[in-house]
Amino acid sequence: MRIIVDETLCEANGMCEMALPEVFFITDDDELEVRQDQVPKAQMEDLEQAIRSCPRRALSLNED
Ligand code: SF4
Repeated sequence: MRIIVDETLCEANGMCEMALPEVFFITDDDELEVRQDQVPKAQMEDLEQAIRSCPRRALSLNED
């Protein structure tokens, strides 16, 4: 499983960061940084919430 960000859609509004700040981070340059592309099972619910919270539908999971 890997987190995919469609950078053509992301507008760096930080909604995902609010849901899962351990993974998503908005830099001082207003860019989204994904700090880890996998999460432990205990954080899966927060990750799914982060994906749902994206108003641009820029986040998805690759289920490899
Ligand atoms: S919620 Fe979506 S649009 Fe906002 S920073 Fe995260 S990926 Fe980008």
